[in-house]
Amino acid sequence: MEHISDLAKGLYNLQPDAVKKLDGFESENYLLSAGSKKWVLKIYPFSQEKMKLLEAENNMLDHVNSYGPGAFPGLVKNVMDRGLTLSPDHRQIIRVLSYIDGEVWANVEPSPGLHRSLGAFLGRLSRILQHFNDDGIRAREIHWDLAHSLENRGLLQNIKDQEIRRLVHYFLLQYEEHVLPVRYQLRMAYIHNDANDWNVVVKDKEVIGLIDFGDAAYSFQISEVAVACAYAAMGHKNPLKVCVDVLSAYHSEFPLEPIEVDVLYHLIAARLCHSLCASWTKKAMGEDTEYAIVSEVGATSLLQQWLSINPWKARHDFQNSIGLSPGIFEAYPNPTERRKKLLSSALSISYKRPIHMLGAALQYMYDREGNTYLDAYNNIMLTGHCHPWVVEAGQRMLARLNTNTRYHYDILYDYGEQLLSMFPAGLNRVFFVNSGSAATDLAIRVAREYTGRKKVAVVQHGYHGNTQLGIDISHYKYNHKGGHGKKDFVVELDLPDTFRGKYRNTDGAGVNYAAEARELLKLHGRDLAAFIAEPIVGCGGQIPLAPGFLKALYPIVRSHGGVCISDEVQVGFGRLGHVFWGFEMHGVVPDIVVLGKPMGNGHPIGAVVTTAEIADGFANGMEFFSSFGGNPVSCAIGKAVLDVLAEEGLQTHARVVGGYLKDSLVRLAREHPSIGDVRGSGLFLGVDLIREGNGLEPGTALAGYLKNGLRDRHILLSTDGPGDNVLKIKPPLCFTRQNVDILIENMDHLLQNKSYEEKHQ
Ligand code: PMP
Repeated sequence: MEHISDLAKGLYNLQPDAVKKLDGFESENYLLSAGSKKWVLKIYPFSQEKMKLLEAENNMLDHVNSYGPGAFPGLVKNVMDRGLTLSPDHRQIIRVLSYIDGEVWANVEPSPGLHRSLGAFLGRLSRILQHFNDDGIRAREIHWDLAHSLENRGLLQNIKDQEIRRLVHYFLLQYEEHVLPVRYQLRMAYIHNDANDWNVVVKDKEVIGLIDFGDAAYSFQISEVAVACAYAAMGHKNPLKVCVDVLSAYHSEFPLEPIEVDVLYHLIAARLCHSLCASWTKKAMGEDTEYAIVSEVGATSLLQQWLSINPWKARHDFQNSIGLSPGIFEAYPNPTERRKKLLSSALSISYKRPIHMLGAALQYMYDREGNTYLDAYNNIMLTGHCHPWVVEAGQRMLARLNTNTRYHYDILYDYGEQLLSMFPAGLNRVFFVNSGSAATDLAIRVAREYTGRKKVAVVQHGYHGNTQLGIDISHYKYNHKGGHGKKDFVVELDLPDTFRGKYRNTDGAGVNYAAEARELLKLHGRDLAAFIAEPIVGCGGQIPLAPGFLKALYPIVRSHGGVCISDEVQVGFGRLGHVFWGFEMHGVVPDIVVLGKPMGNGHPIGAVVTTAEIADGFANGMEFFSSFGGNPVSCAIGKAVLDVLAEEGLQTHARVVGGYLKDSLVRLAREHPSIGDVRGSGLFLGVDLIREGNGLEPGTALAGYLKNGLRDRHILLSTDGPGDNVLKIKPPLCFTRQNVDILIENMDHLLQNKSYEEKHQ
């Protein structure tokens, strides 16, 4: 420290009586004090570039200080009247700045008043900087410039935590969607660019100063606000409110333009992405000093919170707070009327009060009223709504090639091979189609062609698709409202249900059900083409087929010359956690597998996977062609889904989080006797509600009450089963333990507060 003191004396004529080392990222920093006077001495490694940057920074300091001293570090000139000193060996640059006395933001209790004070302070700074110009700052490119946020893409691979990487990637994609197109409409300005909690100085509950102009940039004017919001909002229950306070106070000092406020939500997220990419990159390079990753925890949790804030609501609140007409939630054409005029009433709509969706992000959905919903229902969005990797894979291929299987293209074979590698070796041929229904339909055709037979055995309450053939083999449809009953070619087997069915909870239930099926098949065996079932019957109320059923039944079907089809449309692709395909949980290998829903994460793809022998048996001279099945875009998306599943370890995640969810539901069931059963596995679960005191009688009203009650509490799930009394829980696989806790808390609340009618009707 004596050395520092000597430097201060010799070079700056200062007489410090104390020297203290401070934290520093790019420079060594020392606090010098002499009585009540304080300075900061900074030592930087020399480079020509650094010299230029520091000169530019000094120019900015001189400029802002010319408006009155005290709020910003003042430049202390050396004995040669220079702002920068080169050490005698030319290896270091030395600089001394006046010290602003106060507390840094990080050490004070935040309050709305303080947030407004920060906004107003920065607004005044922006006014001052309007009259500044410096070619050095204008020309420089720094990582922390929000105008260059997309450069962080190159750093994504350094983020080793899959959830955080997905989140950062998602927000970078949104930046591309929402900020990039309007980039040249955003005002550019000189900004401080780093009003973080260690740079903002507070005294007497007011922001009185701002230090460290090292990241000053010529960037979007609004970035000044975005950066401040990103740090001020960390650790708050209601981060949006914090941002509104900062913004409105800034605006009162320095009016913003509507377009700037429109992108604020995305720029705040972008700053958090910058911060996380920087700290994970430091970690990857082994430079994770405490100072370098100081914001990581705060930035991570704010970004997680940010995802659960409806961007349209954020925009509305921002616009509103500065007196602009937000527009977005103003009167819009009644969607119910439009729907009525446009669509058949055969299409149902969810909930007593339907939801008008505007967007979605991973496990959340955003509606037109500004609400955010936790999606505990949509298993199609396997890797999450708008998963960035999947979206970009589709975008890229859509911009390059889209054709059909009458040509060679690599992605068809790359994806096909990758998909088949997920199956037992014998299942080595694939037909690509566009939906689960098309897949089922084709699977039955293939089975019929191969066997030369007609009949199809199904289980009760099964659903397999919306084509005529799909409806004909779906007991859930042909046997319900509007259905025309069972066709002669259909052989209907009892649903091997161990909860409400004939054989319950006994080890032999599956075998017993299979034995009954055997008797039925004896009657139809000579014309049996196929047996089709889901491993867990979704529309039947998330009923896992009784253990042992398929193992006993498959040989019986085959002995009659039929083939066994597993409908994996709902349960496939790792959702079950302990297995990748539902048939694995039953210890069988089907002859044909039907795929759909999650395969394309919302993009319409389906497939039939089968053996070479069966596939060749279908080739009878008639061409099979699907205009869209297996097109390059669909293949790119399907491949991206498989890549993400592997990369993010989503099957394991489904097992772990699903296990936690199931345990939590079982605990809830102990407290609420109206939960009769909790079943399923991974993130494919069913909660069977019963009428208390009436045996297993379905708690239909209670299920409706819970479904609508959860909707009002912004959680989405659905009901199903013959008694419409089973809650189906099958969220995107990025669902977290915290999401589970929220779901359980809300179910518990609703179950505790259910009215007398709900309990007893
Ligand atoms: N099989 C099962 C088990 C399904 O749940 C569904 C859709 N609900 C289908 C097939 C048909 O799929 P899609 O709606 O994509 O045609």
